[in-house]
Amino acid sequence: MRVVIVASELYPYAKTGGLGDFTHCLLKGLRELGVDAYACLPLYGWIDKGDLIYVGKVEVKLSRLWEYDVYRNDRVYFFDNPELFHRDYVYGPPWGGYWDNHLRFGSFCWAVCEAIQKEFLKTDVVHTNDWHTALIPLILKYIYRTDHKHVFTIHNIAYQGVFGKHVMDELKLPWELFHMDGIEFWGNVCFLKAGIAFCDVLTTVSPTHAEEIKDPRYGFGLDGFIRKHSHKLVGIVNGVDYKTWNPETDPSLWYNYTRKDLRGKAYNKRMLCKEFGLDEKLPLISYISRYAYQKGVELLLEGFERIVKLRANYFFLGSGEYGPFIKDAEDHLPNVRVVTTFNEDLSRKLYGSSDFILMPSLYEPCGITQLIGMRYGCIPIVRKTGGLSDTVKDISADGYGIVFENFEVPDLVCAVERAIDLYHARQRFLKLVKKVMSLDFSCRNMSEKYLELYTSTK
Ligand code: ADP
Repeated sequence: MRVVIVASELYPYAKTGGLGDFTHCLLKGLRELGVDAYACLPLYGWIDKGDLIYVGKVEVKLSRLWEYDVYRNDRVYFFDNPELFHRDYVYGPPWGGYWDNHLRFGSFCWAVCEAIQKEFLKTDVVHTNDWHTALIPLILKYIYRTDHKHVFTIHNIAYQGVFGKHVMDELKLPWELFHMDGIEFWGNVCFLKAGIAFCDVLTTVSPTHAEEIKDPRYGFGLDGFIRKHSHKLVGIVNGVDYKTWNPETDPSLWYNYTRKDLRGKAYNKRMLCKEFGLDEKLPLISYISRYAYQKGVELLLEGFERIVKLRANYFFLGSGEYGPFIKDAEDHLPNVRVVTTFNEDLSRKLYGSSDFILMPSLYEPCGITQLIGMRYGCIPIVRKTGGLSDTVKDISADGYGIVFENFEVPDLVCAVERAIDLYHARQRFLKLVKKVMSLDFSCRNMSEKYLELYTSTK
């Protein structure tokens, strides 16, 4: 069986968040299960073409002709159009997306379909992800009438790819689909609806979130449409590549460590605290996420004064629109550090030295930060929502994390207080550190579940 995974992100070539981790993990996991799996990605300007093999050219005739040179290595097909994809960011700078993202990703969808049609890319299953690739099931199934099996995964339903209806002509989309049950959305075009409507299997990244997106509170206006297609909806928790994310071998760490010998983790904390001028005797609570509304940044800002008075160090690493506000709130506090860039090396150092990972999300489809954190022996402090509630169990219920229910400052403060108390109960704390390091959120686990979907009859 052949599977092609199409996405806008794939670690290590392009990653702005969990989507890049997911595609990397799935590709790797499927291959390890013996599946003939490939990924397709736009060739962003920073990807080195040096070692790639040239496959050929595909032409996409939209309101003008877009040519893509296709390159490949042993597992990825790269689609190269310098005018559209040789830019500084995947989607645009933190203060806004590129104006022509509909054209960038719309034409990429067409290019992938052309490559499949031309048989550059032979496949049985097409696994698309999020709005950037959501036109593919529509084009292949509705326009080309091919019989591929389509799996479409929603990683974040808040990002829907909604554009003015002029893009119907610009992207050669069939006007007969411009209605409520098709791709129309309040007079505009919604890419995500194309994926939902035309896939054979619809997935999202945790069972709880699969329930949540049917609800108006979490559906971002698409809950009705999701309910309509819920017969094909499945929730599968994300995995993490335990080779890429491994405290035993991670070269970014000052010291490597295992769950049997945690001394390296203590040394890492000492080094990090020294580098950033923090008191190493205090528990270290880290936040490694986009500074976005979804991630609970407003709650953090609202409760900031109360939280930072609690005796712990707080390290915020993130990028995104709320960055300047978090930076302002820091205001030279001795126990708070804020970094407002995307820095993988620092994120690894933080995972390798933190006692806790904080995720106070408003909503969270799955969350990968807490999974990586646990792999590195950080106890998660999370709000009970989406994938966070599927992957973290509270210590009061024989679990291994701190879970709080309400998206309110007193609940957040109480959760941080509980974490600090836990930290000081040393034996119990260390036992839990070992416990979280032994949990299995591996690629294999996740990939087996996707493989079952690919092979099940429609
Ligand atoms: P998202 O909603 O952004 O996809 P996830 O928790 O699923 O959130 O995934 C976040 C991923 O991005 C993790 O691998 C995390 O380590 C990484 N990450 C987030 N912000 C940063 C940053 N500023 N620097 C480095 N890595 C980051």
